[in-house]
Amino acid sequence: MRIGVPREIKNHEYRVALTPGGVRELVTRGHLVCVESDAGIGSGYTDDAYREAGAEVMADVAAVWAGTELILKVKEPQAEEVARLRPEQTLFTYLHLAAEERLTRGLIESGATCIAYETITDAFGGLPLLAPMSRVAGRMAVQAGAHSLEKAQGGAGILLPGVPGVAPAKVTVIGGGVVGENAARMALGLGAEVTILDKSLARLEVLDHRYQGQIRTVYSTRETLDAAVRESDMIIGAVLVPGAAAPKLITRAMLADMKPGSVLVDVAIDQGGCFETSRATTHAEPSYLVDGIVHYCVANMPGAVARTSTQALTNATLPFVLALADKGWKQALAEDAHFRAGLNVHAGQLTYSAVGEAFGIGT
Ligand code: NAD
Repeated sequence: MRIGVPREIKNHEYRVALTPGGVRELVTRGHLVCVESDAGIGSGYTDDAYREAGAEVMADVAAVWAGTELILKVKEPQAEEVARLRPEQTLFTYLHLAAEERLTRGLIESGATCIAYETITDAFGGLPLLAPMSRVAGRMAVQAGAHSLEKAQGGAGILLPGVPGVAPAKVTVIGGGVVGENAARMALGLGAEVTILDKSLARLEVLDHRYQGQIRTVYSTRETLDAAVRESDMIIGAVLVPGAAAPKLITRAMLADMKPGSVLVDVAIDQGGCFETSRATTHAEPSYLVDGIVHYCVANMPGAVARTSTQALTNATLPFVLALADKGWKQALAEDAHFRAGLNVHAGQLTYSAVGEAFGIGT
């Protein structure tokens, strides 16, 4: 199969859909991979690295789109990319259609087969192609929060692990899912005193068992949230209510109960944020102060560590990419119900009911 990997054109997107290692896997199975020139540069992969892996590197973006049956991307296609899609093509990428009516209608009109990374499921009730970016964001949240605790960022001037004779910082993570567990592990590794709040007792049980008392698990209620606000030096917001905006768990009034210079890291900002005072920021200016509390609310955290994120993404997508390339989309999806859950648009028809309901489009 001929596979195209265009350079990402969304603002500040440095990831690429396939590493040279991923290209080699496809090429050794007899597939042809066309990579747009400089597609990997933001992730530290040169055109030569792709050539050595067996890719054909093309300077002409139109040729990457026109001559290939399967297009691999990272972000949802931008308007000029939608215009390049053809009915016989399969697009495999993050789509997040429920937030984008114009894109949804554009993909329907294109006639192409569009499979979204984020709606593919697994046997454990998880989202295996969303999880790698949640892991990245969770681990990064602690790095970003530790930096925000420094004086120069408006923070209280606290070193996360303390030093001998000086107590470590208190870190509370609200939401103990993929982001939350990864954040908690990082904070623990850096020597902080870590508490996880969650509404799911089953999840708290898993975490309690896994960390054997090294991480405190607390059921999330108004009362326990109030206590966390009073005691914590850093609070990481990592909740998710599937299909809904994040609940506002810390109000502006509650900031008055926090210690001055404490830090709020709102990883759930891509779902609207779980703190009332959160507003989405970018890596160029990631944090701001409200009532003396530092807020870090970058909506696309994995973008700052593009190389790690690209490698993590390829690791997760590659088995699905190989199935598409070896078998074609029809057979690959027919054989795997979890993969089939990724199909969002096909032949001028929306095939994902949650998106249809959001926009009143029939599926
Ligand atoms: P997840 O489903 O694995 O975990 C969410 C957890 O939140 C669950 O354990 C759930 O029980 C818990 N929860 C729900 N409501 C709660 C409440 N009221 N109080 C306490 N806990 C509650 O989700 P995830 O993959 O960890 O993602 C978490 C958030 O991070 C999502 O909003 C996701 O979109 C976001 N995210 C952001 C970035 C970024 O760059 N900013 C990157 C990746 C993920």
